[in-house]
Amino acid sequence: MAIVKTKRDFPLDRIRNIGIIAHIDAGKTTTTERILFYTGRTYKIGDIDEGTTTTDWMEQEKERGITIVSAAVTTFWIAKKEEALFKDAEIRINLIDTPGHVDFTAEVERSLRVLDGGVIVLDSSSGVQSQTETVWRQANKYKVPLIAFSNKMDVVGADFLGTIQSARDRLGANALPYNLPIGKENDFKGVVDLLTKKAYIWQGDQTGAMFNEVEIPTDMVSEVESHREKLVEEISGTDDVLMEKYLGGQQMSVEELKKALRKAVIANKIVPVLAGSSLRNKGVQLMLDSVVEYLPSPQDVSEVIGIKPGNEDAASGEPMQEIRKADPTAPMAALAFKIQVDPHVGKLTFIRVYSGTLKSGTYIYNSIKQIKERVGRLLLMHANDREEIDEAYAGEIVAAVGLKDTITGDTLCDETDPIILENISFPDPVISLAIEPKTKSDQEKLGFALQRLSEEDPTFRVKSDPETGQTIIAGMGELQLEILVDRMKREFKVEANVGQPQVAYKETIQKEAEGEGKYIRQTGGRGQYGHCLLRIEPLPRGQGREFVSEVVGGAIPREYITPIEKGVIEKEDTGILAGYPVTDIKVTVYDGSYHEVDSSEIAFKIAASLGLSEAAKKADMILLEPIMKVEVTTPDEFLGDIIGDLSSKRAQILSSETSGNARVILALVPLAEMHGYATAIRSMSQGRATYYMEADHYEPVPSNITAKIVETSGFTGRVER
Ligand code: GDP
Repeated sequence: MAIVKTKRDFPLDRIRNIGIIAHIDAGKTTTTERILFYTGRTYKIGDIDEGTTTTDWMEQEKERGITIVSAAVTTFWIAKKEEALFKDAEIRINLIDTPGHVDFTAEVERSLRVLDGGVIVLDSSSGVQSQTETVWRQANKYKVPLIAFSNKMDVVGADFLGTIQSARDRLGANALPYNLPIGKENDFKGVVDLLTKKAYIWQGDQTGAMFNEVEIPTDMVSEVESHREKLVEEISGTDDVLMEKYLGGQQMSVEELKKALRKAVIANKIVPVLAGSSLRNKGVQLMLDSVVEYLPSPQDVSEVIGIKPGNEDAASGEPMQEIRKADPTAPMAALAFKIQVDPHVGKLTFIRVYSGTLKSGTYIYNSIKQIKERVGRLLLMHANDREEIDEAYAGEIVAAVGLKDTITGDTLCDETDPIILENISFPDPVISLAIEPKTKSDQEKLGFALQRLSEEDPTFRVKSDPETGQTIIAGMGELQLEILVDRMKREFKVEANVGQPQVAYKETIQKEAEGEGKYIRQTGGRGQYGHCLLRIEPLPRGQGREFVSEVVGGAIPREYITPIEKGVIEKEDTGILAGYPVTDIKVTVYDGSYHEVDSSEIAFKIAASLGLSEAAKKADMILLEPIMKVEVTTPDEFLGDIIGDLSSKRAQILSSETSGNARVILALVPLAEMHGYATAIRSMSQGRATYYMEADHYEPVPSNITAKIVETSGFTGRVER
């Protein structure tokens, strides 16, 4: 392990916590590699096509060539150009690697939550696609200031201004050229910086190729002037002082413009776009300069707002807000945003410190779990080594070793000054599969593996099927589950049979109904007596579940209400129609009776479960299925076949647009119809069409299909009697 010593009293304004955000194949991995190379931390450049990159250290990632895990990596960059903001200052860039595949949307959300800014990598040869749209929207949700890198300028069909226009049209983003490419496709040589009017030409394609400052090519002079004028106008529009100067026709200095642009980017008013080609090593250094100049430091973003546990507003009953500033002397508040198992160090908890100072060897308070945990060691993760540090300050991102029970989304703080930071929300899984360990020892290993894996990935759920006793794992997509199963086998050496992926249906009711649950047994000694009357009502889609008690006058003693609720929840989890969880339902217990001697918690629990089944059977139960948003990009000649095939899949075609020489079809399709689509689309289009999909919403399953699902589910709905 190389010995790296980072200066610890790093001023906050010299830190950039950023993520590289992109859809799959836009070039995020290549760009990250080049950043690590140029920032001097990797000495041998990895090449994704050969699977030797530094950040993709998990085997599966290497094989698949995709980045799944958000590793946080610390690097340094010094902007040296004349007129650079922060000129010659050493800037620490903490790079949070965000995954591009949509099955891992939750990973993206989780990393966005802790970033201060992002570089969105666009593919200049294909413009803005659905996935870019998704990641861009997510960034907007967390108000992450962005600069954009229009990558692949060397590819045939690369269109820098077209890409910016599509970002403006499709995303409504105020994306503006910050520089202009010199040449394109095979002739892409360099860029012109619009504000400084300096041109840079790279000496070659190889990694580490230097660039020279040259005169603006004569045939670009007027184009540069007009785009510069537009950029200056837009920047002035965000700043009163500059606006006055602009309207008065006064000159503005580059420094003034850069400072105003910095403010505009941080306020999400402008997204400057830079041209480049990571593979051909062009434009990456200038992009790093822009990261320093335009993306915020922890000081520039507003304070973090949380709530103070146990401190409610007397009038409203709402918890009181608590604001924390990025100040190392304030009480400590930090968010655990990622758990990763490192082959050498063990379990690492990645933490963003928002305020105060986190010290190694001390106890900290987990305010969500209400437990104390000891921070064993604190590490700064560099691209290929780790550095042990004693303290982490507000604004920093570090990895802690030794936390046992803290999971993603937990707040860590001073026990004397507790705070709960906003938790991260994760979507419900849409797909599941059954796992059967081969031997008894595999069974034990499986339990351990699943626990570890679900700690790392909160969208990954594990449950056991009460009917079959099988272990069911569920997640956001086939690829995610495939990779988890792969890791289970390789890393945890579990031998298991794995079932086919199944759609995660839900059950719901369509009308109000009532049901009576009676569980009365008179055996020799003490009997069983539980009796309740339940009313159920449908709730609007997406509302989940509610349970209310309207029992009055002691018809059921209070201590049996909680067991009734438990019985209801268990039944809702198990399912009534076909073994899927029941959702969007309100259950009210309004009456019942009890027996002085024979009544027990278990009797009421069973009675509730029976009562709910009876009521549900009268309430027109239906199944809900996940509907996916699917985007297919295909050459024109296959359009007919692809649309025909989609139509046979119960698809609702939303649009079909021309994009360059391809067609882009947008459709809503039930997930149940999409099994094996990757193979199908390949054979329909000679491998030339691509698709992308993500979960959109749940909708009722047509009744003829419901009947089939219920029949083949083999679900008996039995309850203990
Ligand atoms: P990611 O999926 O976003 O991480 O993208 P990768 O970095 O894995 O890149 C996807 C593919 O595009 C790989 O085959 C890269 O070699 C290629 N690629 C990345 N950047 C460029 C570029 O600037 N020009 C060209 N021609 N290819 C690139």
